[in-house]
Amino acid sequence: MFDSLSEKLDGVFQKLRGKGHLTEDNVKEALREVRLVLLEADVNFKVVKDFVAAVRERAVGQEVLKSLTPAQQVIKIVRDELAMLMGEGSDNALDLAARPPVPIMLCGLQGSGKTTTCGKLALQLRREKRNPLLVPADVYRPAAIDQLKTLGRQLGIEVFDSQVGQDPVEICEAARRYGELNGFDTLILDTAGRLHIDDKLMAELERIKTSLAPREILFVADAMTGQDAVNVAQSFDERLGVTGVVLTKLDGDARGGAALSVRAVTGKPIKFVGMGEKLDALEVFHPDRMAQRILG
Ligand code: GDP
Repeated sequence: MFDSLSEKLDGVFQKLRGKGHLTEDNVKEALREVRLVLLEADVNFKVVKDFVAAVRERAVGQEVLKSLTPAQQVIKIVRDELAMLMGEGSDNALDLAARPPVPIMLCGLQGSGKTTTCGKLALQLRREKRNPLLVPADVYRPAAIDQLKTLGRQLGIEVFDSQVGQDPVEICEAARRYGELNGFDTLILDTAGRLHIDDKLMAELERIKTSLAPREILFVADAMTGQDAVNVAQSFDERLGVTGVVLTKLDGDARGGAALSVRAVTGKPIKFVGMGEKLDALEVFHPDRMAQRILG
């Protein structure tokens, strides 16, 4: 994960480590290189600017430069700031404190990994002893409904019986009634996606939101698409007010841009990351561990 980013940052820090004593200029030069590496990794320009400024402010002080291990101190500051950037210190847990069945709505562009993530999330919730019902609310692509039904069968988790052509809001409302009557405590709503954002889709998602009042609205983003994912997240957030982000395909050769920018740009936490196509490949996101992985 983020191999290229990690390798390049490592290269920058190797040079610092080789120096022993550090001057202010050494640190500034290293941070100029860090800046380029982050931009190459497709991190948002403003995010990079603020990040480098924050590191510089902490790293050029006398205390750091006069310490016995100045390079280590600088690297530690970079690691801390990376973790902060990704949301360290804020609560990333799912909020399911509502009257059951608690609706969780997943939204995002087609191909982002939404349906797969619905299955993964259902599995994770069941492992936490919850009883989720999967709800296919993408009525435009028969394949989407079938895909969720197949996932449900694999997992032994019930999938609400939606039909192509039904109104998605009616499906969700019927699923809620069904969930109430049959002892389900969580509804996982798999909504429609499109290749690009369009107004009709957004209006439909807004109607589902108004009707169901989901406790969580998770935006599912393909990390391989870098800053595009962040821009799309921002648009969804403006219309829907998302509560968190799921970054998928971090097992692929994602460059890092989405993971490092999305929190700062949208203000919304990354709650989960998808680490593979398998249904158990969903991890709770930990900013500090991610920063540690990036810096090796
Ligand atoms: P949707 O159109 O948003 O519902 O996307 P899908 O759930 O159908 O996923 C699109 C493709 O991405 C499928 O081939 C999934 O197997 C794949 N996918 C989803 N999540 C991940 C992930 O975390 N890692 C990898 N490598 N592939 C994923």
